[in-house]
Amino acid sequence: MMTQRDTESTARRVEELIRPNIRALAPYSTARDEYEGELGIYLDANENPYENGYNRYPDPHQKALKRQIARIKGVPVERIFIGNGSDEAIDLVYRVFCRPGVDNAVSIAPTYGMYKVAAAINDVEFREVPLGAGFSLDGDALLAAADGQTKLLFVCSPNNPSGNSFPRGELLRIVERFPGVVVLDEAYIDFAAQESLLPELESHPNLVILQTLSKAWGMAGLRLGLAFASPRVAEVFAQVKYPYNVNGPTQRIVAERLDRSVADQVRELTGQRERVMRELSGCPVIRQVFPSDANFVLVRVDDPRGVYEALIGEGIIVRDRSRVAGCAGCLRITVGTPEENDRLIRVLKRME
Ligand code: PMP
Repeated sequence: MMTQRDTESTARRVEELIRPNIRALAPYSTARDEYEGELGIYLDANENPYENGYNRYPDPHQKALKRQIARIKGVPVERIFIGNGSDEAIDLVYRVFCRPGVDNAVSIAPTYGMYKVAAAINDVEFREVPLGAGFSLDGDALLAAADGQTKLLFVCSPNNPSGNSFPRGELLRIVERFPGVVVLDEAYIDFAAQESLLPELESHPNLVILQTLSKAWGMAGLRLGLAFASPRVAEVFAQVKYPYNVNGPTQRIVAERLDRSVADQVRELTGQRERVMRELSGCPVIRQVFPSDANFVLVRVDDPRGVYEALIGEGIIVRDRSRVAGCAGCLRITVGTPEENDRLIRVLKRME
């Protein structure tokens, strides 16, 4: 349990973790920051004055969208960062907290590849701690990999590519023990039986939770990712991001779509996932089907390249993860429409 005092001292610690140059930053102020009224003749931003639906700069702070997301997620506006995909937030946590060539980050492995790539781009050492048997989480091993220069700890739950969720209690224990910032990637949380850790944000100022509209919400093409954090961390992200990081058409289309529930579609996809898992277990080439809480299933086969190529030959493209450490022999298969899944299963059942 975190007491009020623990929470306040964590918030002070997080403030200290912010790179000194970022803490001292005088952020760029846009024309739209200086005048926020709605009506008038706008001669302040060197835009083309002829209206075509996108001649104006978009709201740099995405205020209307944040109000909608706050309502849907039950998280106050001041804790929300909206990015060009959650990949933007992954890059931002490095830029805000890690001094290039000095600090490091710890992560589980296997996991989503961008944590490592963003570390390399930012010249940050990336320490990978292998998951245990059945892709289980060993919190103590993760914490033991950290030292005085470890600023970030990445966990993804449900995890990509393994598909499993980690126990909530273990995730919280890591957040409470780790002296830096824990980035919990919940990109696939809408498909999971397990609840999000969003309600824990308030008492854990060192927790950053990533979500995205690219998966359950079906808006990967619009590029909109979310980070939920302490108001201070969300404020710093807003100062460091590019001024107009979420384009106008995206803000408009997402605002329209967010009011439509995706619950039925998510239920359909998780139902299809269970069916695909069951049917895959009966396919002769499949040696193992790993449990999944996401919209994809990881399977192990004897000849991953052969099965991958054979599926391509049938016009079905899956993701070959067999060269990823800890995923020998593994293919990752996204849950498709019922018709797409039928075809996948028919083709795999025929393979010897
Ligand atoms: N996190 C995880 C775990 C993912 O699998 C992905 C995309 N594959 C992302 C983040 C990035 O999502 P976005 O489209 O929001 O950039």
